[in-house]
Amino acid sequence: MLEQPDHRLRQREYLLQISRAITAQLDLSSVLNLVIGYAVEMLAGTSGLIAIADEESNDVLRIRASAQLPREIWPAFAPLLDLPMSDLPRRGVSVLRDVAADTGLSLRQMIALPLTVRQSSVGVIYVFRAALNVDFSADDRQLLQDFADQAAIAVSNARLYQGVLREKQRLDAMIEQSADGAMIIDSRWRITTFNHTMELLTGWSREEAIGRPCAEVLGIHTGQGVNICLTDCPLQRRPIIENPVVDGRITSRDGREIYVQSRYAAQRGPGGTFLGAIANVRDITAQRREAELQNTFISVISHELKTPVSIIKGYAGTLAREDATFSPEALREGLTVIEEEADRLARQIQDLLDVSRVAAGGVRLDRSDFALASLAADVVRSFAGPTAGTFEFELRFPDDMPPVHGDYERLRQVVSNLVSNAVKYSPEGGSIRIGARAEGDMAIAYVADQGIGIATEEQDQIFQRFYRVDNRLRRETQGSGLGLYLARAIIEAHGGKIWVESQLGRGSRFLFTLPLGRRQLTD
Ligand code: ADP
Repeated sequence: MLEQPDHRLRQREYLLQISRAITAQLDLSSVLNLVIGYAVEMLAGTSGLIAIADEESNDVLRIRASAQLPREIWPAFAPLLDLPMSDLPRRGVSVLRDVAADTGLSLRQMIALPLTVRQSSVGVIYVFRAALNVDFSADDRQLLQDFADQAAIAVSNARLYQGVLREKQRLDAMIEQSADGAMIIDSRWRITTFNHTMELLTGWSREEAIGRPCAEVLGIHTGQGVNICLTDCPLQRRPIIENPVVDGRITSRDGREIYVQSRYAAQRGPGGTFLGAIANVRDITAQRREAELQNTFISVISHELKTPVSIIKGYAGTLAREDATFSPEALREGLTVIEEEADRLARQIQDLLDVSRVAAGGVRLDRSDFALASLAADVVRSFAGPTAGTFEFELRFPDDMPPVHGDYERLRQVVSNLVSNAVKYSPEGGSIRIGARAEGDMAIAYVADQGIGIATEEQDQIFQRFYRVDNRLRRETQGSGLGLYLARAIIEAHGGKIWVESQLGRGSRFLFTLPLGRRQLTD
């Protein structure tokens, strides 16, 4: 019957349909189902199956599609799959008989052909007949071979596709987990991939960002506020720049100002046409701030050190003039100024040394138990003098306040700094209160003033190195922005914390905790 022309026609029709299915869909099992269905029909078989070598488990054959064989009985065919192709002519019939007995199916005849891609076998296609018809002929073999070839192409395509898919998933995972922002843009500058770090950096969600122009989502601005991505996109410059890098500022959707460095790797076609690019975006705000701090440091320090030196030089020069005579009071006043300025200079230098010590590995403490109240009294005494008139110092320590455990000199430096700030930043004078109470095994101490106060958004920043709030008083008061930085380092070295509670225009209260003395704990 195979010789009939309409049969040949149908066979060609089937093969064409299968080829179409293979090109149309990359889903392997539907193509295999189609192949085995047609193969069984064309060969007047009763059932059939396709087994594919499993790449992951050492090329063991696994059934991937069948015709007229329900999935539950697939395991019964294992002895057949285990049989090497070379043993089929000799042992195939007896193994098939066993399987038939096992499944209760009548499987009398079998034709099997390997699926071969580029000389290597990727599976086997089997067609069974229930009745002992005429044997499978050479034509039958050829026909099955044609189907087997199609199935082999489908397997090979599916494997390639799976491979590409796996690679893509691996790449996607790498991009997604990158600590840097990563974004892929297409030839029309639209975002196609946007990782989690990009979401955090820009405040744009992936869903919103994908499909938008990159200049809208990332929009890197120069210091002068020009959007570089719109006006001077580094990927569009001519001549082409290999792997351009752009530094600048972005404003996230939730209003944060961030400095970023964006590196691009572009993909280009013939003639340099732009096909797409991957951008690697790094938050460099901390480095930028550090660099700015260094600059501030130099200008602040040179100013701070120069001022006392020029005052000292001015007074000394005047007092040394031979053509002038000074009253004893004027002389004493001049020398007092020189002495005060020299002290200030010494303090500044000490602060600087402390800062480099803190940066190099912390503060060393010489601890003992002592009463905070006497330390506070000591500090207040040192402030008695010209400033005392406009200020009223109040000490508020409970009589039964236990001693604290710490480095007296270092803590005196802290309290002295806080009091000095309270004086500096209270132009109208007012009362300065210093007090403490015990809570658990810690003391909570404070220095409170009625001065200009500190805006909420500045309250964390003032403890940073060189940070000074930008206000009128900043220009009028001397300071290097180191006091609170050092205070925090000293308090933290004691295992305590320091913070501020303040309202603009209403005054500030600096609080810190310190461990209480050991004596108290063991009592
Ligand atoms: P400096 O006083 O040398 O500037 P500090 O580190 O001691 O440096 O303080 C940092 C900044 O915090 C100050 O410049 C000031 O703006 C602010 N500040 C500190 N203490 C007070 C205070 N008691 N009241 C208001 N502002 C304060």
